[in-house]
Amino acid sequence: MVFHWTRLRGKPLRQVVVALALIAAGAATSHAQRTVVSPSVAPSAAPSAGALRAAVERGLTSAPLGFEALQSPSQTGVRVLDLRVEQLGPATRITIDLSQKTLTYDPTGDVEAVVDAVIASTAPLTSGAVEYRFLVEGLPLDEFLPRAGPSQPARTLADPGAHRVVISAGHGVYWNEGFGDWRLQRPRLWGIVEDLVNWDITNYLAAQLAGSPFQAVLVRQPDRDDRPGVSGRPAWQEAALYFMKTAAVPPDVWNIGVDDYARDINTRPFYANWVDAVAVISIHNNGGEATGTETWFDATNGHEAASQRLAEIVNRRVVSAIRAEYNPEWVDRGLRSCNGCKGENRLASRPAIILEIAFMDRRTPDNEALQDERFKQIVARAIRDALHEWAGAAAAPRSRTD
Ligand SMILES: [Zn+2]
Repeated sequence: MVFHWTRLRGKPLRQVVVALALIAAGAATSHAQRTVVSPSVAPSAAPSAGALRAAVERGLTSAPLGFEALQSPSQTGVRVLDLRVEQLGPATRITIDLSQKTLTYDPTGDVEAVVDAVIASTAPLTSGAVEYRFLVEGLPLDEFLPRAGPSQPARTLADPGAHRVVISAGHGVYWNEGFGDWRLQRPRLWGIVEDLVNWDITNYLAAQLAGSPFQAVLVRQPDRDDRPGVSGRPAWQEAALYFMKTAAVPPDVWNIGVDDYARDINTRPFYANWVDAVAVISIHNNGGEATGTETWFDATNGHEAASQRLAEIVNRRVVSAIRAEYNPEWVDRGLRSCNGCKGENRLASRPAIILEIAFMDRRTPDNEALQDERFKQIVARAIRDALHEWAGAAAAPRSRTD
């Protein structure tokens, strides 16, 4: 198979991609930050529906990070109507039916805060492949969620041979309307914060991809210096939304959503659609006090099979590299999917995955590993190798529609 170097023809896009491609950055998923669940070792057997339901109900009793100005989801009427567990071959399917208040707990209509709280609360009880299926009053969650991004990617600017990969470093400083201030999206834990750890790993990955057939296209400020962004904090610490605003990207890529938190999540997949990337890899670290690596794909974005394949390769490569070079006991939590629960995957009209490398809120071994530059570099190299494996097998004449 033949790779081609990217040649960008559109003027604005050239400026953008040249700027963005230098280094990598990170994106926004959401894990609810605090959930009080105790078991420290994930069981290998399927968890019981009763235990999961109890964990979710506990998780809904505290307001997610960034939403403390609101009552907790359970106080506002978010209820678990039903929770079922089925074993589908090697995968566990967890179907969670939530009350309608789920759709409006966040007054902006963004469901990620509640859904992430649910997922984080189940993290310590799950291991191996898990398919989450969210319902609202019996109807699939994805039926309530917006799907379309900018309908028309910048096709005239795209090079059919380009292997642009959007590397999206999760989170970053954003404007919180509830509090009326600029803040990081995730908490500082033992001296580090996910928003910045994600940027570090993305940065290492972009460096690894320099000179490769892949062009890393970044969504956050790639230059780590003290230059302040619109928040007054260093621009590289800011969320993708603000970088997009300064980068000659049209508003229908970055101005979709009712507040900056939602706009920041949405702009990442929309930007990948706009530059016609071959894939989107979102770099995250987890919450929920479990341990190990898991990789997410969306079961409803029209690219389920390709996304699952990319997720499988990335997850396997990352776990093997960590075990071989860092910690032989590292836990493989496997693949996770859901029906639209994470906008970064759902809104990408191309293969998209979210890599959750380690748990920020598990001190040993996860958080300790994330303090180590060597660990981050091992992960970055493994993702690079995974991209090569993925492309080597299937990316040859790349398809515009896959
Ligand atoms: Zn995250």
